[in-house]
Amino acid sequence: MMKGRIKEYLKNPLIQKLSNLEEVFWENPKCGNGENMFPISLEEIEEAEARLLRFAPLIEKVFPETKEDNGVIESPLIEIPSMKKALENKGEIPGKLYLKMDSHLPIAGSIKARGGIYEVLKHTEDLAKEHGILKEGDSYEVLGTKESRDFFKDKIIQVGSTGNLGLSIGITSAAIGYQVIVHMSADAKQWKKDLLREKGVIVKEYSSDYSLAVKEGRRESNENPNSYFIDDENSKDLFLGYAVAAKRLKAQLNDLGMVPTKEKPLILYLPCGVGGAPGGVAYGCKLIFQDAVKIYFVEPTHAPCMLLGMATEEYGNIKVSDIGIDGKTIADGLAVGQSSGFVGEIMDPIINGIFTVEDRRLLPIMAFLKDTEDIIIEPSACSAFIGPLYFSNYGDLQEGYHIPWATGGALVPSSIANKEIEEGRKLKDTLFL
Ligand SMILES: *Cc1c(COP(=O)(O)O)cnc(C)c1O
Repeated sequence: MMKGRIKEYLKNPLIQKLSNLEEVFWENPKCGNGENMFPISLEEIEEAEARLLRFAPLIEKVFPETKEDNGVIESPLIEIPSMKKALENKGEIPGKLYLKMDSHLPIAGSIKARGGIYEVLKHTEDLAKEHGILKEGDSYEVLGTKESRDFFKDKIIQVGSTGNLGLSIGITSAAIGYQVIVHMSADAKQWKKDLLREKGVIVKEYSSDYSLAVKEGRRESNENPNSYFIDDENSKDLFLGYAVAAKRLKAQLNDLGMVPTKEKPLILYLPCGVGGAPGGVAYGCKLIFQDAVKIYFVEPTHAPCMLLGMATEEYGNIKVSDIGIDGKTIADGLAVGQSSGFVGEIMDPIINGIFTVEDRRLLPIMAFLKDTEDIIIEPSACSAFIGPLYFSNYGDLQEGYHIPWATGGALVPSSIANKEIEEGRKLKDTLFL
């Protein structure tokens, strides 16, 4: 595929560095440009938010852990001053360091609880209205009744996943009554497959990478009229579910008395796999905060698919394997070789840049966060800290509200997390090399 073009790209110093698995910081030359920066309207995001609110009574009932927030699935935003000190090994981080703890979102323990759950609920609402299960004026709690579950047990939901999307969709779909099939790439962690099977989900495993698992799932689902495919590479509903985070963040900032401005902006660091989750969050935040937000994505050096797609302007049409990279990383949630083209193009004017990070830094970061703040997040989520670390090492860090977005962690079995943290402790000093 496009061998001639690849050869040209490999003459570009940035692409050479990617190909050599070097860490890079890419500043997006198109940030802020573009006539139609916001092809998806705020109204659509607000509709998504309203839909989640309609479902809140049902969510509260089937997922008691959401009771405290009345069925609203949201995560804390906290300041992490001790972690900030630990990271200031070479230079200061001006401003404050926070953590957006999607790692501890109820139900799925990852950022996938936003998009994944939203799309399952949207599809459920569509089907239930169409078939008279949900009538005008009904409380959405009827979707938890036996009659409703009997209706949904003939319906199938399928999804391709590196793990967390499968968990989010598997757990939610099982609660409504659907049959669920999750197509998992080789990188998916064993405990995620085990947990899904425990929930009654059918897990199909592929020895190939993520893009192929998605492709296979899409094909199988399209062959069955009773099956609905949640398409991580193309889904606008997933994107909208993620984008709702921005409205919630705005409210949280207000509660904390934080008012970001152009001079003292929010600075978000978002771990990126296929792009849907960080893309949706970034989009919503840019739409709401405009000049008062700066947004950086982070990808593993072994799977920099979004950076490769955006920098070459090939978006979803180029794979990391095209430039000789294997896509293998301990950041399993980010082990994606080919980004969503739909998201990449939307991100052109939105994001300020992309970092890549070596795997060797992830477990030390995990250990630091546990030892300074007593918070456990998974290796994929740890990647977010490369942003503040890089800026503090190389100076040039703007004053602002620095927010690494912790994208997952709460469901990791503690025996596994403890082992990773133990390993990370031994390597702490190497984080600053
Ligand atoms: C899925 C995931 C991401 C990235 O989301 P994409 O939509 O694939 O870009 C980041 N961190 C964790 C823990 C994830 O599970």
